[in-house]
Amino acid sequence: MKIHEYQAKEILQKYGVVTPRGIAGFSVEEVVNAARQLGGNVWVVKAQIYAGGRGKGGGVKVARSLEEVRQRAAEILNMRLITHQTGPEGQVVHRLFIEQGVSIEKEFYVGMVVDRGRQRVCLMASSEGGMEIEKVAADTPEKIHKVFIDPIAGLSVQQAEEISTEIGIPEQSRSQAVKLLQSLYRAFDESDASLLEINPLALTAEKQVIALDAKMNFDDNALFRHPEIVALRDLDEEDPVEIEASKHELSYIPLDGNIGCLVNGAGLAMATMDIIKLYGGNPANFLDVGGGATAEKVTEAFKLMLRNPKLQAILVNIFGGIMKCDVIAQGVVMAARDVQLTVPLVVRLEGTNVELGKKILADSGLTIISADNMADAAQKAVNAAKANA
Ligand code: ADP
Ligand code: MG
Repeated sequence: MKIHEYQAKEILQKYGVVTPRGIAGFSVEEVVNAARQLGGNVWVVKAQIYAGGRGKGGGVKVARSLEEVRQRAAEILNMRLITHQTGPEGQVVHRLFIEQGVSIEKEFYVGMVVDRGRQRVCLMASSEGGMEIEKVAADTPEKIHKVFIDPIAGLSVQQAEEISTEIGIPEQSRSQAVKLLQSLYRAFDESDASLLEINPLALTAEKQVIALDAKMNFDDNALFRHPEIVALRDLDEEDPVEIEASKHELSYIPLDGNIGCLVNGAGLAMATMDIIKLYGGNPANFLDVGGGATAEKVTEAFKLMLRNPKLQAILVNIFGGIMKCDVIAQGVVMAARDVQLTVPLVVRLEGTNVELGKKILADSGLTIISADNMADAAQKAVNAAKANA
């Protein structure tokens, strides 16, 4: 799960991370009032979307008077902001954040991710802040320094000092940097984050170390113990198909092929996509209906797949274990009637109550291409998609 910059900064402040003072707003008027409340004479108005690169795309702007705050806020609110992370269709800005403007002497990069191979959180930092870190990693990888954090001991002062020195934090600000890095790690660890990025971490003209940007993603599997984080979810920022899928507890990931896959079990779903590829096809989605799918859930799954304009065939691949083949067959029949199936449907059933399942499909009067095994099913789906293209 992702959250906005201003929300990430609120979480980080609780751990003692220094950020500029700021207030979020949903209208131009709210932003102007916020500027007044913040005081000072330089502000930064920032688009809040779940993507980085906002500055380059025109979503982060400096204002030096309340009138200018009004103008900048009006320009950014409701704009379709296109950045290297949004894709060409961009993302409409529904929320703004206004902060005190900080005079920056130098920008650094700090990031944390879970390194699964090492079973540790990796702290990465670089002297090359404020720019796309992917570019730094590609062109000058020696400028990215890494530290792996012991999950029991946490980030030690020594490690934090070492990495601060490596990226060139001046000596007089180093103890501040150490404190900030340790706070970041505590925030990461205690909130079950999967990613945390401060780009830039700034050294101000007053030699203060301060987080100017903040991005946090969380491990979905740990959200059950963080209701306060779940409450931050902004549905405007999420893919409507994925929101719909999560409502019905379906694991659905859109892909760019043309063969829709409806499968039970994540492993079988992966194998189904692989075998489609093997026979020269391309899956349109990953979809795991889970172990306890009902006919209603299967109907919802069909509806999700059929929203995709590129869809040219559907492959249902079910291994009935806990899930019974007759239940799935009923679901398929119900869905096919309900949603007006416009593409060829290939079904492969195996396992508990398979005979009954096949009979339900045969008696339904629907044109279903039935398959006897996975290879047969994949070939039939690939051919059907080709014929339908
Ligand atoms: P993004 O990474 O999406 O472009 P940032 O929050 O990093 O957005 O902002 C882009 C740039 O704007 C930063 O690299 C920094 O130079 C500047 N900036 C952001 N917030 C402030 C602030 N409060 N004061 C001064 N400059 C800022
Ligand atoms: Mg940034």
